[in-house]
Amino acid sequence: MQKHFLVFIGFFLSFLGNAQNIDKQYARKIVDELTSEKFSGRGYVDDGMRKSAEFIAEEFQKMSVQPLNNSYFQEFEMSINIIQKAELKLNGKNLVYGIDFLVDPSSNGQIFQQKEIYNFNPKNYQKALESEKSFQEFIYQDMVGQHQKHIVFPPHHFEVDSLNQYYKHWANFYRPEENKDRAIFYFSKEKLTASLSQQPKEINRFFIKDHYYSENLKIDHYQIESEFNPAYKVSNVIGFIPGKNSDSLVVITAHYDHLGKVGNTIFPGANDNASGTAFMLSMAKHYTENQPEHDMVFIAFAAEEAGLLGSQYFVDNPLIDLNKIKFLLNFDIMGAGEEGIQIVNSAIFTKEYDVLNEINSQHQYVKQIKKRGEACNSDHCPFYLKGVPSFFIYTLGGKGHYHDPLDTGESIDLIEFHDIQHLFIQFIDQL
Ligand SMILES: [Zn+2]
Repeated sequence: MQKHFLVFIGFFLSFLGNAQNIDKQYARKIVDELTSEKFSGRGYVDDGMRKSAEFIAEEFQKMSVQPLNNSYFQEFEMSINIIQKAELKLNGKNLVYGIDFLVDPSSNGQIFQQKEIYNFNPKNYQKALESEKSFQEFIYQDMVGQHQKHIVFPPHHFEVDSLNQYYKHWANFYRPEENKDRAIFYFSKEKLTASLSQQPKEINRFFIKDHYYSENLKIDHYQIESEFNPAYKVSNVIGFIPGKNSDSLVVITAHYDHLGKVGNTIFPGANDNASGTAFMLSMAKHYTENQPEHDMVFIAFAAEEAGLLGSQYFVDNPLIDLNKIKFLLNFDIMGAGEEGIQIVNSAIFTKEYDVLNEINSQHQYVKQIKKRGEACNSDHCPFYLKGVPSFFIYTLGGKGHYHDPLDTGESIDLIEFHDIQHLFIQFIDQL
């Protein structure tokens, strides 16, 4: 009896171990694929986003997730300022894009011209910030006679708001043609965090790690290649699994796009958000093998990084009745979890939060489920603003690479992936 019981336990444990491996193996495969070179950072260069959309649709098809209205794709157009290449050489050294420097995503194409350098004086500026009058005086003096010069900001910490105000004045003070051939070189201690822009702006800006600054700085070379596309085509990718009853819907979402590629620098976006895409696909896989109670819709959103454009387009042109959504779960940044998870909107939908917490304390899936109020920081938001009950779930812990080339597949361990998946499968059962 005892022996049989042990054999049974052993068998049961090895089965559990196996199930864990299978889920994690699938997730790992998806993350490795989406972060590989062929998808070019899932952005606007080399068709990276379109190729990723096709890959996700193939995954849906392989696991027999159905399309909605005969297609997995919901196509739309958006404007985007695409930085194709950016080079910078200072004091004889070629800097690496994404690691040593970034350019403003609203930059225009520009080729280096030898120019005098105007050194911005941070101490005088700090003093000028004390009153509106002294600020205006500083701005005026700072700009007179600096036509046609490159502007260099030595490393110094300023409030972002105050600097933006400064830039705005700079852009207003000079005629566009005076800003066209020069640029602002801003040296900073802060982490370089890349982003996207839907519009070009007048004056180009380089953001450079502070240790490349020297008092006799020499700008040897730079070049930016960019293209403004007012109608770039992208697609949300949508799958459907019929439930045992169709009176309501559960929706699982994750954005699949990332920042793409600039020159040879790829932004792989493993944690943000190949991991969430793998999570969404993994959940779909589970429900193709275990029919859900309610109908389920799975959406991989395009163009989140340019400002939640895919999810906004979906709620403006919904392919499902938004009023029928019982609950929406959006997963963005699912690669870590050793510090638990945090949920935007859990302080709003407290009943659902309590259910989740109850499941977690029974099974000890994650260390903690941190509460958070509303925040319009991922694709749940356009739905939430239309009255759809929704959570945005992200993992805590990990290496902290974010919007930089170091957010690679190897840098995330998907340590709580399986546990979090089971937490939400049970949560969905109780909805
Ligand atoms: Zn992001």
